Amino acid sequence: MSAPWGPIVFHVDMDAFYAAIEQRDRPTLRGQPVIVGGLGARGVVSTASYEARPFGVHSALPMYLARQRCPQGVFLTPRGAYYAEVSRQVMAIFGRYSPTVEPLSLDEAFLDMTGTEALMGPPEKTAARLQREIKAELDLDASIGVASVKYIAKVASDLHKPRGLTVCPPGEERAFLAPLPIERLWGVGKKTAVRVRALGLSTIGDVAGADPRWLESELKSLGRHIHNLAHGRDARMVERGVERKSIGAERTLAQDVTGKSAVLDLLRPLADSVAAALRKKERLAGGVRLKVKYADFQLRTRDEKLLAPVDNADAILEVLARLCDRTDLATPLRLVGLAAYDLVERQAPQQGSLFAPAPVPQKRGALDAVLDQVTEKFGKGAVRRASHEVHERFGDLQHGADRPDDPS
Ligand SMILES: [Mg+2]
Repeated sequence: MSAPWGPIVFHVDMDAFYAAIEQRDRPTLRGQPVIVGGLGARGVVSTASYEARPFGVHSALPMYLARQRCPQGVFLTPRGAYYAEVSRQVMAIFGRYSPTVEPLSLDEAFLDMTGTEALMGPPEKTAARLQREIKAELDLDASIGVASVKYIAKVASDLHKPRGLTVCPPGEERAFLAPLPIERLWGVGKKTAVRVRALGLSTIGDVAGADPRWLESELKSLGRHIHNLAHGRDARMVERGVERKSIGAERTLAQDVTGKSAVLDLLRPLADSVAAALRKKERLAGGVRLKVKYADFQLRTRDEKLLAPVDNADAILEVLARLCDRTDLATPLRLVGLAAYDLVERQAPQQGSLFAPAPVPQKRGALDAVLDQVTEKFGKGAVRRASHEVHERFGDLQHGADRPDDPS
């Protein structure tokens, strides 16, 4: 029996994200070595599918080497804007599990799961459910590390990829880390590893057992840093990196439903609650999204940008009716939902031009920084602003409850 959990951190890392998206969308690529990256003379690999890795192809490898090592590979240019859109969908799922999500890149994030056991059950089961939900909704694989601190959660998510679920129980931190090579310590790159090994330390356990004063005299502040990490001491908190930029509500249905009028009937109370939340927050929605999930778990969304932002249920329903016309509602549905996005402050003056850029939020979160990096990497215009959905969940997959959860 291990100690009870105190702080709980998930690190969720999508498996071969860009390559997996391409394989998902083009089934002929499944089972093939798919290499996504810059195809020019100086290009590098962004992501290699697991089929390409036995050939020695990995991210950051120069593309000409990837072509030499894996001539039979399928080489693709990154679709940056599209990956950012899928990332938004991934982050939206994370947002259902924790209000505190810290993205590190388009395909990985920390989730602060502290205190969720009472509501969601043991963290390892919650993590497994999150993996299943990502698979069911997006048909993508993720690996998850569960630990009491960020550093170990990140190490853990990488240990059993792909589809790994690795838990370091509380109190086991030092034993969990001890057998791992020193390269697994944050801050120990190739050059530093040579210096640390020269001191006779090759595992994290060796570092943990060393005299911290000696480590500090040999390696300066890095010595103290890696000694702390080796003991599983990592004081950094998960930082909320994503502002709430959309408000949504959805409902999982006890029985499958078809047809526009039935769907609109179900959407009406959800639109009421979203409109009420918008008014409470003094926000107007610049866009409305319809979300449906079919009986086979396929997910579809349809968006419409509005010429004039709204905050009332009738206006939202009008948009949803149009979106319904563009959506297959003849196939049985197991979930319907909506989101109001592109939120603007109600008192902000509305620009006259329909084509005026969306107001730039004053607070910039970690995801903004990530998206900026992607823009830099893939070119300007590659990325449109990703908004993050936190759903007020009306139906619950586990309990079928029919009352709203606390959305915060
Ligand atoms: Mg990844």
